[in-house]
Amino acid sequence: MKPATAASQAPPRLGAERTLCNYVGGEWRSPSGAETIEDRDPTTGELVAAVPLSTAADVDAAVRVAREAQPAWRGVAPQRRARAIMRLRHELSERREELARLVTDDMGKTLDDARGEVGRGIESVEAACGIPHLLKGENLEGVARGVDVEQVRQPVGVVAAITPFNFPAMIPLWFLPFALACGNGFVLKPSERDPRPAELIFGLIDGIDEIPAGICNLVHGARDAVNALLDHPEVDAISFVGQASTARYVSERAAATGKRCQALGGAKNSLVVMPDADLELTVPGVMGSAFGAAGQRCLAGSVAVLVGDRERQDQVRDSLVAAASELRVGPGADEGTDVCALVGPDARERLTAALDRAGDSGADIVLDGRQTEPGPAGTMIGPTIVDGADHESEIAREELFGPLLTLVRVPHLNGALEFVNGSRYGNAGSIFTTSGHAAREYRYGVEAGMIGVNVGVAAPIAWFPFSGWKDSLEGDLHANGRDAVEFYTRKKVVTSRWR
Ligand code: NAD
Repeated sequence: MKPATAASQAPPRLGAERTLCNYVGGEWRSPSGAETIEDRDPTTGELVAAVPLSTAADVDAAVRVAREAQPAWRGVAPQRRARAIMRLRHELSERREELARLVTDDMGKTLDDARGEVGRGIESVEAACGIPHLLKGENLEGVARGVDVEQVRQPVGVVAAITPFNFPAMIPLWFLPFALACGNGFVLKPSERDPRPAELIFGLIDGIDEIPAGICNLVHGARDAVNALLDHPEVDAISFVGQASTARYVSERAAATGKRCQALGGAKNSLVVMPDADLELTVPGVMGSAFGAAGQRCLAGSVAVLVGDRERQDQVRDSLVAAASELRVGPGADEGTDVCALVGPDARERLTAALDRAGDSGADIVLDGRQTEPGPAGTMIGPTIVDGADHESEIAREELFGPLLTLVRVPHLNGALEFVNGSRYGNAGSIFTTSGHAAREYRYGVEAGMIGVNVGVAAPIAWFPFSGWKDSLEGDLHANGRDAVEFYTRKKVVTSRWR
């Protein structure tokens, strides 16, 4: 049971400006440090909350209560733990519209997109409800006279998750329900740029008596809080999602203290458009992938590889430019908006600087989103299409996380695969074709973890593993699916003789 005071200290209404609290041991607590950073509405620039920068002492408090609560939680029968997760699923479903609106408010994406995000998050919770089935062990009888071997799975202990800004509701839900259902204690450090959806989720957890106080904790903050989690001797495993450079840093620092770590990093995904592609299907698929959420998705297709002769490539380019020109840039909360604000003015500045450099080096900016008014927060930029850039240039190879599509032209599928596999990233990618042979060649040869055939955003549902290859993942095990159970449990093998 949570302390009686917890509910009365629950966070106030959506959108109010205030300093956020950590959720530790079933209570909303003000962190010890006085420092905060601003959480601003990305569309209007309005200050919506002050995010406390938790110190190592605040992190220590959260980890300690998780550690203390974990043995009893481990002792709760797996099916009862799953029922607690089912309660979470129910509460999330009841509040899904409010949560989606908060995602739009805090992160900026369109309401439709936010609803999709929340739906995906709820699916992760649903997948975790089935964990008792996946927790079952294996055995082999009679390996010698009277000797049997049995493998069981036990929780790793205390898990910390560190999450990015672009899916502030869904990505915490990639980890929280699986870690809990496997019998672990849990600490979340959400993105400091938009932590309010995570706060709402913890408000729901606060009301679920089946999730005992202390087992599931929320700590706000930035770099210092992350470092404290990475260094803490009582944290056993780290689940991270963010930029590739941060993922590398996190995995190296976690390894230094012997933690297991899965760190999902950045991406630069390519969409291969074959000469036989059905453009009625392909063009909307590319639009949604490149410009949805203003390109701020790890699955965004930010390069279109146009395969074929010059005439066909020009035809595809013209269709893409015509469709992108029709997209409406505006606030995520407005019905009819296709391209939302970027998360902050810094993101717009980074993108426009990269476009300036591309233009200076001779690339043709065939649709220039820099013409779009930046808006009150300096965060709006229109869909942008760049042709004729060097295939190894920044605009073709680096993640820029904005509504940008770079066109790369190659004559054959082999050339497309060579370009795609030349990336340091291997998160996702898609092919658009009407040829089963081309689809099969692509699927066989492409070096990436999540692949689409005639699908622009190839996001696996939560019963499958979610992650990429190469610099898009530090570690081995992906998020969600069976991999989550593998990551959040340790295997123990028992050899017994009875005769
Ligand atoms: P980010 O790396 O800036 O931040 C992610 C988390 O790490 C945040 O909680 C932040 O507080 C923390 N952090 C950032 N810098 C740190 C540092 N130097 N030391 C310690 N902690 C630090 O990522 P972001 O900008 O919030 O998110 C966007 C990135 O996430 C993109 O690169 C995107 O591709 C990636 N992403 C990947 C996936 C995937 O499945 N591979 C999914 C979503 C997002």
